[in-house]
Amino acid sequence: MLTLQTPLSHLYGVGPKLAQKLQNLGLETARDLIFYFPRRFDDFSRPSKISQARIGEEIIIRAAILEIKNSRTLRKRMVITRARLRDASGDIEAIWFGQPFLINNLQPGKIFIFKGEIKYDFQNKKKVLQSPIYETSPSIFPVYSETEGLTSKYLRRLILPILRLTESIPDFLPEIIKRDQNLVDLDFALQQIHFPQNFENLKKAKERLAFDELFLISIRMILLRKNLQKLPAPEIKIDETLLKKFVKSLPFKLTDAQRKSAWEILKDLEKPHPANRLLEGDVGSGKTVVAAMAVLSASNSGYQSVWLAPTEILANQHFQNVSKLLEPFKMKVGLLTSATSKNSQPITKNSQLIIGTHALIQKDVVFPKLGLVIVDEQHRFGVKQRAYLRSREAYTDQANIIPHFLSMTATPIPRTLALSLYGDLDLSIIDEMPPGRQKVKTKLVSPSNRQKAYDFIRAEVKKGRQVFVVCPLIEPPSTSLGVNSALSLFELDRKSAVKEYEKLSKDIFPDLRIGLVHGKLKSKEKEEVMQKFKIGKIDILVSTAVIEVGIDIQNATVMMIEEAERFGLATLHQFRGRVGRGKHQSYCLLFSSQWNDIIKQRLGALTKYDSGFDLAEVDLKLRGPGELYGTAQSGLPDLKMASLTDIIMIKRAKESADKVAGKMKEYPQLVEKLREFEVERHLE
Ligand code: ADP
Ligand code: MG
Repeated sequence: MLTLQTPLSHLYGVGPKLAQKLQNLGLETARDLIFYFPRRFDDFSRPSKISQARIGEEIIIRAAILEIKNSRTLRKRMVITRARLRDASGDIEAIWFGQPFLINNLQPGKIFIFKGEIKYDFQNKKKVLQSPIYETSPSIFPVYSETEGLTSKYLRRLILPILRLTESIPDFLPEIIKRDQNLVDLDFALQQIHFPQNFENLKKAKERLAFDELFLISIRMILLRKNLQKLPAPEIKIDETLLKKFVKSLPFKLTDAQRKSAWEILKDLEKPHPANRLLEGDVGSGKTVVAAMAVLSASNSGYQSVWLAPTEILANQHFQNVSKLLEPFKMKVGLLTSATSKNSQPITKNSQLIIGTHALIQKDVVFPKLGLVIVDEQHRFGVKQRAYLRSREAYTDQANIIPHFLSMTATPIPRTLALSLYGDLDLSIIDEMPPGRQKVKTKLVSPSNRQKAYDFIRAEVKKGRQVFVVCPLIEPPSTSLGVNSALSLFELDRKSAVKEYEKLSKDIFPDLRIGLVHGKLKSKEKEEVMQKFKIGKIDILVSTAVIEVGIDIQNATVMMIEEAERFGLATLHQFRGRVGRGKHQSYCLLFSSQWNDIIKQRLGALTKYDSGFDLAEVDLKLRGPGELYGTAQSGLPDLKMASLTDIIMIKRAKESADKVAGKMKEYPQLVEKLREFEVERHLE
């Protein structure tokens, strides 16, 4: 008997090969297939004209078969089916390979809807419609991700008999929410998403399924937050005299935004439950001092702080800077990176602040009196690492007390998006730059102006300034791909730090001091190079994205980026933030290996906007959130139907989640669904 748990391999017509392909898509049971939604929907009811067919495009036409016949290729002995198709605007030949049975269905005189790609037939010098799929009646045709040679048509045939099972899937959405939000039943939505009767029904189905995703995410956030508020955390008292002394010791005046954020954080730490806050502020907005105030406060109440940085370079820099900030307060600051972690015990035991990389979060590293965890540039840590950091297990010997948690990011996430992504976090935003910051002049440089850019760089170095050159790769791509690889010709030309370093030091600037830093260097080597750059012994530093975050070299005035189109706007904005940190006018020069309209538009945004928040909005519009932050990196939920940019839907989902989150016991099916959702989307 067919049930939701029936393995797909038991279905009629699914052999081991197909079963494997389905499994590669994560589809093992009948239920999986029901929840495998189409990626888009083709409108077969509005065909184009044959006369409008353009080579390389996909087209949907409604045409009559004039004639159809099979023939064989001479060499391969494969059957080719050719048909003449006609609509009111003209004729075209359709061509299929290895499907001789088609002539039984596609009989002359009958009319069908065809969808396929227009190709150019070089032999006969004309356009052809290649391997179109066809339907008999105008309708909506769902298109699934067609990978592994599984066509939409095949998936459709497979799903059809299974769909009657949707009746037996419990609708987990509480009735009152369905009514309030005017949403259709799950059963109906699942039916219509695979076999839409009309666009009206399809719209309702999409709405319901998209709502489900956002609703489940919202509930999850609310529950996470509630759980946290039940746990005990150290109460860290605000000592105003001490904090005033700290603020006075700074060489500058705090901005209002810094004050406000610091106050929000300090208020959090006073509470007996773990704080969970995200401090968002553009590159250079001054997050470090704000976090340092929290550290000082914790230490004053007898608690240790841990400060995590995504790279060793940044950990080193923080160690230097934060030690200096806290110097007047006689605090012991320790550094823990993979280079120093072998002998971690004395550091973790005796320091009030331990700064380091993820070497810090090894299982055997234990902090006797941990009160505060700070994760700097949190978007640079993997999802797993972040989850681990926020779990109790990271700090085993004080399972009875949970440290406060403060993460920081300069990846500007628009507020709406932040709320939906990080709804379990409180948010502080530094939306103001310290006074006197100058704008970094940003230019797109065409290939013909490369020499001019080099001349400009030379002039800056002559003035005593320093320069970054960023490349997307460490080493040139391997040539072992062979010349036949379609990509190789193009890929071989890609910019690598190692090659650019050689070129610049030998051919372009033989008289200048060039340095090289990238992720494959040993940490000691990296440190040496960065130190040399910092004290001015290197004029031009060629690097990869390792310098993306945090690096603070005030004398650097030029950021030159090769193949800028390979990076997201957020990353480019970070790169640009490496210059313009001192008193000198600074420049960002963007190079690209291709200049098409989209690239121009995207990179052009950098010349227009200085605020990371504005750029994030642009990127969000142009590329969508997944691309923007990199799904794997950001911990962005993997949404199938919903969009994180659909603010209205997000609001509806949140409101509904608020309504039921307090009484989950009344909705066992919802609890069950939530658990499934977490497992399925790897959120646990
Ligand atoms: P980010 O937010 O990118 O981490 P930092 O904390 O590294 O920024 O600060 C960038 C630079 O600005 C540092 O050199 C820091 O000393 C300086 N700075 C921070 N706050 C102020 C301020 N209120 N006025 C002037 N300079 C400041
Ligand atoms: Mg920083």
